[in-house]
Amino acid sequence: MTGSPTHEPWEVYALKYTRNDKPRRMDVMLGEGGSTDPMPMDYFIWVLCRGSRTVLVDLGFHAQVAARRNRVLLRTPLEALATMDLHPANIDDIVITHLHFDHAGGIDQFPDTPIHLQASEMAFATGACMAMPAIGGFYEEDDVKELVRKLFRGQLTLHEGDDVLEPGLSVHWIGGHTGGTQVIRVWTRRGWLVLASDASHYFVNVLQRRPFMWTYNVGDHLLGFERLLALADSTDHLIPGHDPLVMEQYPPPCADLQGIVARLDADPLFSVHDRIPVQAGR
Ligand SMILES: [Zn+2]
Repeated sequence: MTGSPTHEPWEVYALKYTRNDKPRRMDVMLGEGGSTDPMPMDYFIWVLCRGSRTVLVDLGFHAQVAARRNRVLLRTPLEALATMDLHPANIDDIVITHLHFDHAGGIDQFPDTPIHLQASEMAFATGACMAMPAIGGFYEEDDVKELVRKLFRGQLTLHEGDDVLEPGLSVHWIGGHTGGTQVIRVWTRRGWLVLASDASHYFVNVLQRRPFMWTYNVGDHLLGFERLLALADSTDHLIPGHDPLVMEQYPPPCADLQGIVARLDADPLFSVHDRIPVQAGR
C-alpha cells in the first residue's frame, strides 16, 4: 500500500530505555519446543515530530516497577527523552499502544497531556481477565487507575478501531496480543511507516507468522500480521516492538546517540530480508 499525501512528513525515532538478555526462544515464541537459543529483548518508546508538534508513543515503566519486577533500567524513559532535549512539557499528545506495564508506566509524569488508547483496551484492563495472573500479571493496577483519572478529567480519548489523529498519522486496532492493542501508521519522507509495538515483538513474528507466547487470542494475533503488512509500504517500513535488530537497521540521529536512539524515517542500513527469511502462512 503506497500513498503520497500532500501534507508534511513526520520524523520518527525509536528510543531504547532498557534491554532484557534473559528470554529464550522457547519462552517468547509459541511452538518453539525446547529451543533455548537466546532471544534478547530491547524496550522502546517512540517519538514523532513534525514542525512544532511532538507525539510520544508509549511510556515505558517506572523505576519502582523495574525494581519490583526484577528489571534493570539502562535509563528511565524520561532520561531517554532528555537525550533528545525533550521533556514532558514538550509532548503534545501520547498514544499508548496497550496497557502492559512496559508500555503504560509513568502516566502521572504527564499530568496535562492528552492520551489516546483503544476503547477495547480500557475495557480489557478493567475486565475479568485482570484477575488472572497469566494475563493481568502484565498490567499494573496503578497505571489503570491513572488512566481512569485522565478519563474523568477529559484527557483520555478512546478510539474504536481505526482512527485518524491528524493528517499522516492514524491508529489501528490489531487483535491478539491484548484485548485492544493499537498500532500507529505514520507518513514519513520514505513512505508509510508502521509502529507495530507488540502486535509483532520481533521481525520473525510477522515475517514468519510465528505467534508470540504471551498472547490473548492467537487467531487474531496471526490475522494481525497480515494487517500490519497491508498497512506498511514494505517490510522495511515495519517496526517491531522489541527487536534489537531495529537499533542495527537504522542510524542514530547523531553519533552521540548511537545505541540509544534510532531514526526510523531514515533509509534502513540493510533490508530486514537479508537477516530474516520471509515465510508466508498457509
Ligand atoms: Zn511490550
